[in-house]
Amino acid sequence: MAFRDSIVMGLSEMSIAELLKFRCTGCGNCCKEPLLPLTDEDLARLVSHTGSDPMSLVKFITRDEIDMDHEPEGFALLRQGKRVMVLKHVQGRCIYLGPDERCSVYAERPLGCRVFPLDPTFSRSGKLVRLQLIQATECPYELDGHNPVRALASLNQLYDGAMLRYRAKIADWNRLQRRRKQQGQAAQTARDFLAFLGVVAPRKRAQASKRAPIG
Ligand code: SF4
Ligand code: SF4
Repeated sequence: MAFRDSIVMGLSEMSIAELLKFRCTGCGNCCKEPLLPLTDEDLARLVSHTGSDPMSLVKFITRDEIDMDHEPEGFALLRQGKRVMVLKHVQGRCIYLGPDERCSVYAERPLGCRVFPLDPTFSRSGKLVRLQLIQATECPYELDGHNPVRALASLNQLYDGAMLRYRAKIADWNRLQRRRKQQGQAAQTARDFLAFLGVVAPRKRAQASKRAPIG
């Protein structure tokens, strides 16, 4: 629920049956605001699809730039401070939002984009017990669509699983940075964080390139 919780500005009180008829009209507003926290798996998928340098796709933002104070586990300790990794925007638009207001990486888009704006809650037995509409931007939807509960459940599971795995990696990274601090070392950089996540190649140490003398 992390991304969804982080961007909730208000939640619509419609019935489950009504909301299951939600249809996106493709206006593109949700690709302009809010900023979208990414997971390492989202980023790896985008990199593999586009061939872009991962650092060119993301931005690391402060707590003043995103409403995630209630989710401290989403912040990575970097040299410049605590940061959340989000998909980069340029001039108020996601870098993948085309001039036609369509997503240019639709099939590979982050899971956060896929779940938006429906926020379902399932019981332990898998029953849909609550369905909310996240109102984080102006969303001119229609209620003439069809969202199968089974598809919502499997997307929800995918999203929560990816988020849990990513948060566990952030926790490991933060432990490492705290240990460095105790040893008097500076926290590592955003690029080091991406290397830790396995999204960029680790930086070669200066020493590693020096060959041992022969003989
Ligand atoms: S990746 Fe695509 S769907 Fe997601 S915010 Fe960007 S343009 Fe929109
Ligand atoms: S704001 Fe709503 S209608 Fe517009 S693209 Fe996003 S989900 Fe679709």
